[in-house]
Amino acid sequence: MRVYLDHNATTPVRAEVAAAMGRILSEVHGNPSSVHAEGAAARAEVERSRVQVAELLGFAPAEIVFTAGATEANNTALLSVAASRPDGRRHVVASAVEHPSVEAALEQLEARGHPVTRVPVDRSGRVSPDAVEAALRDDTALVTLILANNESGVIQPLEEIAARAHARGAWVHSDATQAVGKHPLEAAAAVDLLSMSAHKLGGPKGVGCLAVRSAIPFAPYSHGGPQERRRRGGTENTAGVVGLGVACALARSELAERIAEYTRLRDRLWEGLAAKVPGAVRNGDPDHVLCNTLNVTFRDTPGEVVLQALDLEGVAASAGAACASGSITPSHVLVAMGLSPEEARGTLRLSVGHGNDASQIDRVLALLPDLVARARAAEGS
Ligand code: PMP
Repeated sequence: MRVYLDHNATTPVRAEVAAAMGRILSEVHGNPSSVHAEGAAARAEVERSRVQVAELLGFAPAEIVFTAGATEANNTALLSVAASRPDGRRHVVASAVEHPSVEAALEQLEARGHPVTRVPVDRSGRVSPDAVEAALRDDTALVTLILANNESGVIQPLEEIAARAHARGAWVHSDATQAVGKHPLEAAAAVDLLSMSAHKLGGPKGVGCLAVRSAIPFAPYSHGGPQERRRRGGTENTAGVVGLGVACALARSELAERIAEYTRLRDRLWEGLAAKVPGAVRNGDPDHVLCNTLNVTFRDTPGEVVLQALDLEGVAASAGAACASGSITPSHVLVAMGLSPEEARGTLRLSVGHGNDASQIDRVLALLPDLVARARAAEGS
């Protein structure tokens, strides 16, 4: 039996989601835009899902635009909606720890002449509201801020930052992909635009949404037919959208239980590692972090060796540095938090989720201290 501790990368599809999607694939084949009975049946499924998603996110159903995941949602928010403000504002503020799908869109904006200010984070991984406020200008179109970081798990002070941004006339977007389904979403009420993706909460890959307040003038990213109220052309991914809806409904009813369970497992893992592995350091503000995420540096350790050894022993986790053509590229998130390239190399991300239990954590705790010691010894020899 493998132990999957990489839920921030993606999650297994929940049985309830797979069952609902299977029903659509085998029984509901109409195009939601068709006016006949088959079309109406598919339309009803899409609209039911829209309500489920809207209820979880705290938006109105009409404010949900289905996309092919969070990457498309982030690109739409930045490259279309923010880039086309009717009042001509063009400046964008972001944190230094955005997901690559936001960071790459920011680079596109810069190439198109939009000024972009990236606000640094401190060692704990958080941006300061004062620093964001200092970055705001009279022509700031948008502040974009990841709600929970995919690597560190750190939660940003989004509500406070949104209030300050709004006071200066800026719109606020948040990539909430990692928060949805494992963190309360009160902060979502403070934002104008929010991105999320089904596959991070037990839904299918390749579907998500951009939630956009009705007061925000929308500019489409993908042009085509009149789908999604002319906000996103293309025939709806009916089965995917239904899977997203079921995943959101499950998240809504299970959130408190999930937070309690994931916190228990994550803390058991950290307490065990802290006791058993000398030179283990937890990264990120422990008081503002996703309940399921442990980002840990093992000093003087080749993390990629530990990760491979874990995989061979049946444990899936993730690294803080990527090995590309023989050289080690530390994650920009860890670099922004002040970790050295050596520290980033020794960093693992362990993220728990549905299907994990205490016995699995204990298995990892029985393996990992020895694997770290061996990797250190091999490196030193
Ligand atoms: N934002 C964050 C914070 C993520 O973790 C991810 C997934 N790695 C994405 C965006 C991209 O989501 P998708 O895979 O749906 O495009």
